[in-house]
Amino acid sequence: MTISLDALVSLIGVGCYGALIVPTLLRRRITEKATLTLSFYLALGLIWSIGSAIIAMGLVAETGPRLFFDWLATIGRNAMPLVFGAVTLSFLGHKKMLYWYWGVGLLIFLLWGALSFNFYYLSDRLLAAWPLTANTHTQLTYLAIIAWGLATVTAVWALYWAFKKYPQAQYRNRFLYWFGGILILTLAGIIILLQIPHFQWPGTVINLFGAGFITYVVLSFHPPELKLVASRIIQAFIITLVLSLVMFGLLNTAYLINQWRLYPPNPLFWLIIMAAGSGFLLPYLVHLTEQLLNRFLIGQTDESAVLKAYSQDVNSDWDFTKLSRQALDFILKDMMVDSGVIFVDEGDGTGHVTLRPVAEIGMPQPGIGYFSGGDAWVTHLRQKQTPITQYDLDVLPQFREMDDTSKKWLAGLNADIFFPLILRRKQMVGVLVLGPKPGNKPYLPQDLARLQTLTSQIALDMDKARLFGQLGAVNQRLGELNSEFQTFDQGKTDFLSIASHELRTPLTHIHGYASMLIEASEEEMKDQAYLEYILNGIAKGSSRLKDVVDLVFDVSKADLGELEIIKTPVNLADVVDEATESQKAALEERGHRLIIAGLNRLPLVEGGAKRLVQAIGHLLNNAIKYTPDGGTITISGRTLTDDPENPKVEIIVTDTGIGVDPKDHLRIFQKFFRVGSVNNHSTSPVKFKGAGPGLGLSLVAGIAKAHGGEVWVESPEYNEETCPGSQFHLILPVKSPQTEKETPEPAVTTSANTRHWRSDDMKLIKEKVAAEEKKKKLE
Ligand code: ADP
Repeated sequence: MTISLDALVSLIGVGCYGALIVPTLLRRRITEKATLTLSFYLALGLIWSIGSAIIAMGLVAETGPRLFFDWLATIGRNAMPLVFGAVTLSFLGHKKMLYWYWGVGLLIFLLWGALSFNFYYLSDRLLAAWPLTANTHTQLTYLAIIAWGLATVTAVWALYWAFKKYPQAQYRNRFLYWFGGILILTLAGIIILLQIPHFQWPGTVINLFGAGFITYVVLSFHPPELKLVASRIIQAFIITLVLSLVMFGLLNTAYLINQWRLYPPNPLFWLIIMAAGSGFLLPYLVHLTEQLLNRFLIGQTDESAVLKAYSQDVNSDWDFTKLSRQALDFILKDMMVDSGVIFVDEGDGTGHVTLRPVAEIGMPQPGIGYFSGGDAWVTHLRQKQTPITQYDLDVLPQFREMDDTSKKWLAGLNADIFFPLILRRKQMVGVLVLGPKPGNKPYLPQDLARLQTLTSQIALDMDKARLFGQLGAVNQRLGELNSEFQTFDQGKTDFLSIASHELRTPLTHIHGYASMLIEASEEEMKDQAYLEYILNGIAKGSSRLKDVVDLVFDVSKADLGELEIIKTPVNLADVVDEATESQKAALEERGHRLIIAGLNRLPLVEGGAKRLVQAIGHLLNNAIKYTPDGGTITISGRTLTDDPENPKVEIIVTDTGIGVDPKDHLRIFQKFFRVGSVNNHSTSPVKFKGAGPGLGLSLVAGIAKAHGGEVWVESPEYNEETCPGSQFHLILPVKSPQTEKETPEPAVTTSANTRHWRSDDMKLIKEKVAAEEKKKKLE
């Protein structure tokens, strides 16, 4: 049986369209709309081919079935270009346009049906109105041309729009392919629709080729870079040309040799020599041409040269930040890219990824990125250890399920490509992010190879720098520990000397007076005044001894959190009164003026009255001791309602004394810490600068903590000449927390992270002082 060309082409069409539908349908579930529309498009091609094949092979003889298959083929053929417009729209993601387009397409289809079946004499009426439509067939052809034109215009418009919206190289590459598809299908459309005689079968073949081409573009997310393909073709062409020339030369030489009648005269001998020579030269020749072309046409990487340049440029002294910055700088210059970031993974060992930027150039404020270990992006970088582009994240199905915040964070970087920093082929230690290349050119395979080499080196260097940094940190910590240890050791020595002094002095007094009592004559024993003097001495000494021992005891209890406090509503004005009462003598002895302000307005505070008297007593006593004679000491108070749920009271003890150096603001609250040397030590609770055992402020801090409060000092400097003064702030919550555990740690804070000298406090104090002075003058 002979088979006509038309029939053969149609049969090939049936096979090819059928074969194209299969992979498209298999992909349908993952890539959605575009492939669904594409399947429809291919199905129309299949219908067209089946219809034409049956007719061309003469399988149906009767007119009825013939008409049916003819009709089927026409439907397929005419609807195909229309649906191609829809494929383009859905491929490029024009959702809204797509609905409109389907609507117009349906109208055209209905019109087509109405015309071909002459519904309501539509075809006849059109004939009468417009004689150019010579018959129904012509009408239908015109309609098909209109539909095809609409589809082509829509496709070109949509592509133009997409080109403007997506400047990224990979998108544009895919669009360029699509443009190629449009060109091929347009050519096929012109041939088929204009029914150019004798060209029907090539038209059908071209259409089939175009359909295959767009199917490939829809199904493959990474069609090879078109420009690269073009340069490869040129390359192949040039190699062929060069080799042909060489061969031509060789053959000619063989011919000439034959003519010159060289010895041996047998031309076969010379041909064999030539063949062997060209066989030997050929591989070298191919290699040489390829290399030359690579260098001039495509550009090539020389790994050792890159690494050499890198090691010359990046010279970091093992400073991690400097290294990252220099490495990034090098890469950006090397790639001629304007923006990039290096992130390090500060993963917590749970497999999650926390990316912290360590070097950034030209990228919009990259913050810290958090990713779960199962994140598709992270999994790709970790397992495949190959770069990934923003385009991949946008289009590849495996990234569709990615967490929205992660996607947004990545998109916010405006990056083009993400490179994992892999350490020793295993662990991902960070990510290199690069912005787009100038002119949105793509990262070519040779760029990627170059970057791969560089990133492995950078990962290694960064790891070394990190270890080096860690070593430095350990060293520094060791140094700190050493100095802490020395301080501690010094403290221990100081403690021994202070404690022995603190205990020995009153003991010596007691011992002295007791000896005097024992050695007293009978006469002296009868002298009431003498006896009183001795007993007073003993009482004073033992009371001082008791105070010191009590203080040590209290501080050690405060340390253990076992300070016993019986909490009742306390009036702080009374507390301050009681505390001042015991210091009256000292105040008088030193000639200090005491001003108390604003305490009566304070709310009752839930606390241990005795302990609070103790705390304020210590603060007052210190103010007395560290202020030169005739100073002014103020105790003021106010309510803090920053947190209305949890109001607090602040007591401020201000003096006009020698002040505290800011570097000691925290340390004076430590046990046994005193500013200056041990020699300043004095057992007197009154003497100027007469430092005690260095436990007073430690106990104040312990008491504040037990109340859920805090204490700190504010003072501009330590200066015995100018006497800048100090302010001790004691904060107590109005409602005490139930357990000590609820109390905020630590009780001692620095003024730096709390408040500073308050102008209103100072104003209040100055007013008070002025008022007192006025009163005195009047008296
Ligand atoms: P001490 O028993 O030595 O007074 P504290 O714990 O009460 O111990 O105080 C620790 C150190 O803090 C003191 O030695 C002193 O140097 C410094 N200090 C305390 N209060 C004041 C103050 N009002 N003015 C200046 N320095 C002070």
